[in-house]
Amino acid sequence: ASIAVGMGTCGMGSGATELYAAFAKEIDSQHLSISLRSVGCFGCCSEEPLVSLYLPSKPLVWLSKVELSDVPLIIDNLMQGRYYKPKALCRINEWDHHLSQHTYGEGFEELPPWNEVPFFHAQKKLILRDAGLIDPANMAEYVAVGGYRSFEKVLGGMSRDEVLLEVKNSKLRGRGGAGFPTGLKWELMAKEPSQPKFLICNADEGDPGAYMNRNEMESDPHMLIEGLLIASYATTAQEGIIYVRAEYPLAVQRLRTAIEQAYAVGLLGDNILERKVRFDLSVVEGAGAFVCGEETALIASLEGRAGRARVKPPFPSQKGYLGRPTTINNLETWCNIPLIIGKGSAWFARIGNPASPGTKVFSLVGKVKNTGLVELPLGEKLTTLIYEAGGGSVNPSKKIKAVQSGGPSGGCIPASLFNSTIDYESLGALGAIMGSGGMVVMDSDNCMVDSARYFLEFTTKESCGTCTPCREGLSQALDLVSRICEGAGKLEDVKTLTELGNHISDTALCGLGQSAMNPVLTTLKYFPEEYESHIKRSK
Ligand code: SF4
Repeated sequence: ASIAVGMGTCGMGSGATELYAAFAKEIDSQHLSISLRSVGCFGCCSEEPLVSLYLPSKPLVWLSKVELSDVPLIIDNLMQGRYYKPKALCRINEWDHHLSQHTYGEGFEELPPWNEVPFFHAQKKLILRDAGLIDPANMAEYVAVGGYRSFEKVLGGMSRDEVLLEVKNSKLRGRGGAGFPTGLKWELMAKEPSQPKFLICNADEGDPGAYMNRNEMESDPHMLIEGLLIASYATTAQEGIIYVRAEYPLAVQRLRTAIEQAYAVGLLGDNILERKVRFDLSVVEGAGAFVCGEETALIASLEGRAGRARVKPPFPSQKGYLGRPTTINNLETWCNIPLIIGKGSAWFARIGNPASPGTKVFSLVGKVKNTGLVELPLGEKLTTLIYEAGGGSVNPSKKIKAVQSGGPSGGCIPASLFNSTIDYESLGALGAIMGSGGMVVMDSDNCMVDSARYFLEFTTKESCGTCTPCREGLSQALDLVSRICEGAGKLEDVKTLTELGNHISDTALCGLGQSAMNPVLTTLKYFPEEYESHIKRSK
């Protein structure tokens, strides 16, 4: 029998550390033959702490909201060959997501299969396929579910051009928000003949309400390393850096453990596996500036300079880290690579939206019943995310009013437009962005003007100050929005805000400034009556 405790940051914040210790104490004191494992996060964060149980030839069963008082009962039942059912959430008989294929036993039909639980029903778990099932600190568990087989396939007979072609044909686009074609980016880098060349993983997830990348690093760090290894072969880059925000200590620790393990078996470093390319990989902790999610600011930070964006061109693929050719991708982009190589670009290109295939992981938070990580094929509707996976409003007497898509530089989409699909173009047409995947749901208690001020305050503080439209314009816009919120606004402020917003979006140097006014512009567009009512009250 085995017990696994979900020990991502979300689980630990809900008491998983104490639960793990209580299980360990009980098992030790009774000298029981139960294996106790620590795994990552299964995704349904509002059900934490989560514990999975396994008895040979029976399904894997997940328990939710487990308390310390449940521990002796769970163990007593397991020792009698049964599962403790009062906290049972679902069962898994088969887990078949590409590389990970497990078959568990039959039985427990009275529990719903995991993918019939409303939170999971519409999900397609590719990036999250093993999150919560494998021990992220144990490389053997990643290998046991098919890990590093795609890299093996590459080394076993794919030329660099074939790898590049697969990535291009998959039509994978950057998951950090900008949506640039990944294969094209890699091709530019591969053409650069001289060394050194660098690969950078952008894991500087600074949006309030977004924690997809944190979970991916905490739950399945080898998936990222495998993606980077495949890219090192295809582009001949010999050094990689994972830039992680310092506020993610558990992710940093699990990444460093995984990197040590990869060095120990010769996947990284010296040419033990007789690869044609040597590849070194390290983790650098960011200092917490939101602008460092922008690639040129990230590079400046890595070089020890203040995190400020610069004019492009030259693009990082020509002149990046230390002035050398550099490919920067968001963490989730890298994590798609083993899947594309393992299963083929044609398979990947058939998932979701034909123009931007694949899945996207969203962190769903705010006034929604089920919060957590939701992985959907691109092209699904916002209704699926918010009402089906999210279960609708957390308070049935309050109506959901809007969702802020894409973090503080995203846009506020009203509930009347939730039939829109989630992809780069559709969200852009609404004035929002997909960003890295943060989705903050708001209900009738939320004032849209207050929420626009909250996000604008954040981006104003995070502006790096390099260009005038962002440095000066955002603080002027914040003054205007604050004046309206505080009951001193005038009708002409709305016109000024719109003009100022459009001007900043058109003239700011980098993505932060270009998108910082989105929360204001979208709330002005979709909720003008809320601005007017603030202004009327001030008269
Ligand atoms: Fe810096 Fe803002 Fe200009 Fe970007 S837009 S370079 S964050 S001042």
